[in-house]
Amino acid sequence: MVSRVIPVDPFDLVIFGGTGDLARRKILPGLYRRHQDGQMPDDARIIGAARGEMDAEGYRVFVENAVREFVPKKKCDPKDLKGFLARLSFVQLDATGTQGWSDLKAVVRQDVVQAFYFSVGPSLFGAIAERLHTHGIAGPEARIVVEKPFGHDQASAQALNDTLAQHFAEHQIYRIDHYLGKETVQNLMALRFGNMLFEPLWNAQYVDHIQITVAETVGVEGRGSYYDRSGAMRDMVQNHLMQLLCLTAMEPPSKFEPNAVRDEKLKIIRALDPVATDDIVRGQYRGSNTVASYLEDAETDASTTESFVAMKVHISNWRWNGTPFYLRTGKRMRGRMSEIVVRFKEPPHSIFEEDTGQSANELSIRLQPNEGMDLKVTIKEPGLGGMRLIDVPLDMTFADALGEEAADAPDAYERLIMDVIRGNQTLFMRGDEVEAAWAWTDPIIAGWEDRGDRPKPYDPFSTGPEEALMLLHKDGRRWREIRE
Ligand code: NAD
Repeated sequence: MVSRVIPVDPFDLVIFGGTGDLARRKILPGLYRRHQDGQMPDDARIIGAARGEMDAEGYRVFVENAVREFVPKKKCDPKDLKGFLARLSFVQLDATGTQGWSDLKAVVRQDVVQAFYFSVGPSLFGAIAERLHTHGIAGPEARIVVEKPFGHDQASAQALNDTLAQHFAEHQIYRIDHYLGKETVQNLMALRFGNMLFEPLWNAQYVDHIQITVAETVGVEGRGSYYDRSGAMRDMVQNHLMQLLCLTAMEPPSKFEPNAVRDEKLKIIRALDPVATDDIVRGQYRGSNTVASYLEDAETDASTTESFVAMKVHISNWRWNGTPFYLRTGKRMRGRMSEIVVRFKEPPHSIFEEDTGQSANELSIRLQPNEGMDLKVTIKEPGLGGMRLIDVPLDMTFADALGEEAADAPDAYERLIMDVIRGNQTLFMRGDEVEAAWAWTDPIIAGWEDRGDRPKPYDPFSTGPEEALMLLHKDGRRWREIRE
């Protein structure tokens, strides 16, 4: 496979929250990988900005440690690391006060691409956006990158959008959902719109149903009190699962460009039916001999926050009328697995005898682990003994099919940050999309609160509450297995 790293223009990237957990684990190691791949011109600089006391030398030590911890050892090359660290500087600053802003103005250049990454809590977004302007730091084409959570309901998301809009135009705002930066997610679009094979079948006439699962084995330990104010619906469904749903269900955009793609995603969100009470199951994990319960992790005696949710969703449009989408996400599940499964209908008439073993085609798109796709097709079982049919996977695990380079594909954050520098918003959420997603989830959450709904307990490292299995069983369907 030919590597095609296209260098970006010279830039100054300021990371507000440059000493935080996200910067340490994802942003800075990701930037190192882009440097190592030769994607950054000599004239690209990274400026950490945070409130803690630190100087440039201290920041380089911090970043070196982050790279050594979060980049695979074989990629930690001393020469690359030295070159990368030389790009770094640090400004100590208070987002809500006056300290440090004139220092920042002195280092940020006006004649290169300017990107400001808000890797801080959303309560600081407004203060930072305002100061970037009042201090004359952000030029007219500066870009800002904002992290999730983008609001906790429609009203707060709207307020956040309004605040940012006072200082930046929509084309300058990059709302990150790192799921969109995953290789497989983009491959979903390549698969759908780059082939003739699937799109004609991609509708209610041929698709029986679609499943989207994002399962994690981790619990909420360490961030339990934060999570308890959010829950699976706000933390995962409103953003990540909705984005996957949109890309799976949307109409072909006229072009692969930001607003064309985002217009189509928005149409899907707006076509979602409200979810019936019977079509949604919430769960909360129990403890065991080896792991704490949700309540222990959240450090509370009682909580009705869900750590698991499964639901049946309908899209009211021509393409999908009658084809349900089943969404499921949870913590402390049996395995760590994210996948989209498209289950096709059975052939309308079978020419084979009933017990020959024929079954429906299934296309699964794996986001993790082992990014890839497989398509279950029916063939004749080899050998004598008449016509017996078996299912075999046409497996395309990217690492097997495309070699080491695919296994080494840039992490979602790497790709997305380079997209910011290039000024490409295709894989970022637009303000109206985020608000529409909240407008759909808000009544579901309000319904739980009004009814005093309590999540069903489930065993740790299981597939969630029994009721979630029933959600499909009652429709004569089954969830795909969550593998350990
Ligand atoms: P963190 O608490 O580890 O770091 C916060 C950073 O903000 C620190 O560098 C701190 O110095 C800086 N900061 C705080 N108050 C400041 C102020 N008044 N002035 C200047 N700097 C200030 O947080 P984090 O985990 O890195 O998360 C940052 C953002 O990213 C949050 O919005 C979080 O929800 C989001 N996020 C985090 C992760 C993750 O894996 N950590 C994942 C997705 C989204």
